[in-house]
Amino acid sequence: MSGTQNGHIAFDDLEREIIAPGYCTFCGACEAICPVHAIKVENNKVVQAYDCSEHLDSCPICYEICPHTGALLSQALQFVADAPLWGENIGYYRKILLARSTDEATRHAGKGGGVIASLLTSAIKDKLIDSAVVSQSGAERPLDGKPSIINVPDDLLSAVDARFIPSPVAQAFGQAVYEHGKSRIAFVGVPCHVMSLRKLEAFQHKIVDSLKVTIGLSCLWAFSMQGLLRFICYEYGIESQDITEVDLEEDNQVITTVYGENRIPFSELKSHIMNRCRTCGHFTSHVADLSVGGATPLKDWSVVIVRTKAGEEFLDAAVASGAISVKDIHAEPKALEHLEKIARHKRKDASREIAALRKSGRPVPAGVDFLFTRDRKDPA
Ligand code: SF4
Ligand code: SF4
Ligand code: SF4
Repeated sequence: MSGTQNGHIAFDDLEREIIAPGYCTFCGACEAICPVHAIKVENNKVVQAYDCSEHLDSCPICYEICPHTGALLSQALQFVADAPLWGENIGYYRKILLARSTDEATRHAGKGGGVIASLLTSAIKDKLIDSAVVSQSGAERPLDGKPSIINVPDDLLSAVDARFIPSPVAQAFGQAVYEHGKSRIAFVGVPCHVMSLRKLEAFQHKIVDSLKVTIGLSCLWAFSMQGLLRFICYEYGIESQDITEVDLEEDNQVITTVYGENRIPFSELKSHIMNRCRTCGHFTSHVADLSVGGATPLKDWSVVIVRTKAGEEFLDAAVASGAISVKDIHAEPKALEHLEKIARHKRKDASREIAALRKSGRPVPAGVDFLFTRDRKDPA
């Protein structure tokens, strides 16, 4: 139920539908927008620091903007729905390109040809943005997904990407606005992070006046960290403080430590995927201005799905400044085929999981139905 009625405190619904059944992915959006600072998201937990009803008679917002509730989904889709093209597995788009950094060092320092680093670096240099909010793994503990607010291009070049790890980037967006006074921010996150920002836009929250562009990263899943760390320590003797990188290679999760690589069959780790990720049909970020993901089988390129005019202008500016080179996706049809295949499989897996949960009578968050129908253009 949406918490929009007078005299209604939405946190009760959020707690019951999302937090208690384990569907929260710790994006931190609810903390960022709570008007009385009653919510804290830290160490993969959401807690209500005190009872907000002591200060307010009614408040709908944390429920409305949580990416996993059913509220505001159709409205969020409006931000991309004027795009002329649509694909069942990739959503609305204007065009799809292959892109990579023109700087060799940046290409080799990051994944996917260094596209995100070069896009953001170029935009900061050209003063299109004054900062970028991204997810980075901590330098000392790579499995601690820490969001970062980046102000200068050099910070970006040292950025380490943090995939498979929950990270409260929406919370960091709030800090960028309220604590650092940033007003032209590029936000980079996985699809559920971007959805929380789009819902904030749909809610017309003043915080998104500072949002310049959203860049969505492709996402297969995130791990529930405590369980994963216990398992790999017990079964493989891997201590979290020794881990330097987590990656995926065919059917193995590759966990690299200071002592070397460990190839762990993904089937062994599957049970540690977060609940919500099992039911998530987003592979590419369907409501971002730009969606960026790997271009398998090409190593040094990314696939960029341009969904909005704002995304197109942002990308064009980086190309015009010489930071990014692009080519038409049809020059490398295998890259598009691979992307669509992964996206299709993710939707199917999610669909199966949702059906199984419903059949067994277990709770399913209302947000899961987004993406399983095409025509959600009209606000509910
Ligand atoms: S005051 Fe904060 S915790 Fe309470 S309903 Fe509003 S956003 Fe949620
Ligand atoms: S807004 Fe984000 S942190 Fe808050 S309950 Fe929803 S998923 Fe969790
Ligand atoms: S799989 Fe979906 S719910 Fe999980 S982190 Fe990725 S985008 Fe979020």
